[in-house]
Amino acid sequence: MTKNPELSIVLPCYNESEAVDSFFKKIVPILDGLALSYEIVCVNDGSKDDTLNKLIKIKETVPQLRIVDFSKNFGKDAAMSAGLDFATGQCVIPMDCDLQDPPELIPKMVKIWKSKNVDVVLAKREDRSDDSLAKRLTAWLFYKSFNQFSDLEIPENVGDFRLMDRKVVDVVKSFHERKRFMKGLFALAGFKTACVGYKRPIRAEGQSKWNYWKLWNYALDGITSFSTFPLKLSTYFGLLVTTLAFLRGIWILIRTLIFGIDVPGYASLMTAILFFGGVQLISLGIIGEYVGRIYLETKRRPLYVVRQVL
Ligand code: UDP
Ligand code: MG
Repeated sequence: MTKNPELSIVLPCYNESEAVDSFFKKIVPILDGLALSYEIVCVNDGSKDDTLNKLIKIKETVPQLRIVDFSKNFGKDAAMSAGLDFATGQCVIPMDCDLQDPPELIPKMVKIWKSKNVDVVLAKREDRSDDSLAKRLTAWLFYKSFNQFSDLEIPENVGDFRLMDRKVVDVVKSFHERKRFMKGLFALAGFKTACVGYKRPIRAEGQSKWNYWKLWNYALDGITSFSTFPLKLSTYFGLLVTTLAFLRGIWILIRTLIFGIDVPGYASLMTAILFFGGVQLISLGIIGEYVGRIYLETKRRPLYVVRQVL
């Protein structure tokens, strides 16, 4: 195994015992065919099945494999950060274990990186027709609102699957935040970028670890990590309501002076009170989201804990 290989593959694995074998069966011949030195950094993110044993077994035949074993599950972003920390290659490609990031694309990406003098080669999903309508709609909504609210522009339909030059990896590693919204951090790093298109196949083996609740929280993390716009929302809404209330106040004053006092409307009063109670709670909640994040960041706890490196 070379010390600083040309290429590092970073592979977070959580309960992937069904998928690892077919992954390695597919990727190793492709990497061997590239005629460059490589390593595969596999992060076992506290799997509860026998993923680790399978990886150890694979290492017997694939000496380029390095296994970083977490003490428990820390989540994909932490696993990927660890992979980037441990990778030593001149370029790094993070991948999913379920063959949804087709290894066939790697030679293309490496070729572009070598010939075109770019630092990042993005793999862009060309059509999402296999996804459900709801998934596509929420993804679209997320990209639109993220790009609208934050100063960054994250490219649509691009996941973590990408080639990054060593200098890009070093920049991403230097971001110290605990809430690691990787798509945003990658975009924050910048650099010269090229794209290759691909069609994302459906998951070959095992189960996706995502559900809509997790995706919602992920989106929330993404937006609050990179934008303070939600904090301003209450200011603008408050301004609008104050202006309207002021105008209505003047109207009531004039009406009372001309027509006298009407029968008071308890129902509308109650609705207004409840409505603005709700608005205030939502605003508090938005502030709370940010305060909670400040709280977590100030603790400076480690992102992940490594049990052993094999
Ligand atoms: N993963 C991980 N830790 C987790 C959840 C997922 O390391 O807590 C890994 C998982 O093993 C896989 C990759 O992250 O290699 C992507 O996960 P998944 O396929 O569930 O996500 P999807 O492709 O559905 O977005
Ligand atoms: Mg997947």
